[in-house]
Amino acid sequence: MAVIIDGNKIAQEIRGEVRAEAVALKKNKGIIPGLAVVLVGEDPASKVYVTKKAKACTEAGFLSRQHKLSVDTAEADLLKLINELNADRSIHGILVQLPLPKHISADKVIAAIDPRKDVDGFHPYNVGSLLTGSPLFVPCTPRGIMELISRTGISLPGKEAVVVGRSNIVGKPIALLLLAQHATVTICHSKTKDLAAVTSRADILIAAVGKAQMITEKMVKQGAVVIDVGVNRLDNGKLVGDVAFAEVAEKTSYITPVPGGVGPMTIAMLMKNTLDAACSQLSGHS
Ligand code: NDP
Repeated sequence: MAVIIDGNKIAQEIRGEVRAEAVALKKNKGIIPGLAVVLVGEDPASKVYVTKKAKACTEAGFLSRQHKLSVDTAEADLLKLINELNADRSIHGILVQLPLPKHISADKVIAAIDPRKDVDGFHPYNVGSLLTGSPLFVPCTPRGIMELISRTGISLPGKEAVVVGRSNIVGKPIALLLLAQHATVTICHSKTKDLAAVTSRADILIAAVGKAQMITEKMVKQGAVVIDVGVNRLDNGKLVGDVAFAEVAEKTSYITPVPGGVGPMTIAMLMKNTLDAACSQLSGHS
């Protein structure tokens, strides 16, 4: 029977470590890590995420600044705000909550963020640097997955890793991070032929698709490690992942649940990225 990886517990550990480091930073250097979160419009899910991020900042002892802009904010005004935050020395991390309204180019806005404050890791500089192996910031969900793997003591060198999903925020970056840790990596997507044949090879299987319970027991190798990134709501309101948990867990050595697996790690890593931003801006190395 599988070991269920407790993302809530690991995320709490990390948030405790970050809090302790933030206290030390304030005491020794007089610096309080600052995160600015920008929300444009009234998207209900985005509002929930922004509130959670602000609460996590407060718990970590960070300065939390929220900029809530109306849905009809002009792109030029948002870019002006980003420039002001880039220049604000009390703000070390800037996060623009996505999606943005259609009349604003997310690419343009992300590119306007100073890469040294890009705690989401979406700026083209950090995306490119992830490819060459030295990013200032790694996107929070993939970084969280790597922490789950390393803190569980799972070894990666030489392992066959299969990532299902190739999005810029999860699939591609997690594939690069696994490669950097010497796994042999395959990326699958909607055009992959015979998906089950590929996933069945995986020692480490990452599901980041957004299709409820699509990874079934037949698609998983005996003893595999399965990390489920998917978050899907069923008609009955239940939250499930991309993996058919009960049947797949029987076959795995380690598996993450949904909820309580990858999800809590994302905010924990946002706090870690913001702390890292404060430390590197202090030392002037970035
Ligand atoms: P996207 O919709 O951007 O990407 C989905 C990927 O899955 C695409 O690459 C797509 O292929 C691929 N795909 C779709 N159908 C199939 C199929 N039948 N077989 C194989 N591949 C398929 O999603 P995200 O990466 O943004 O998110 C994935 C899931 O992770 C979602 O459920 C999301 O809610 C969740 N998520 C959770 C987070 C957390 O903190 N826990 C954070 C971010 C995301 P193609 O490229 O060919 O279209």
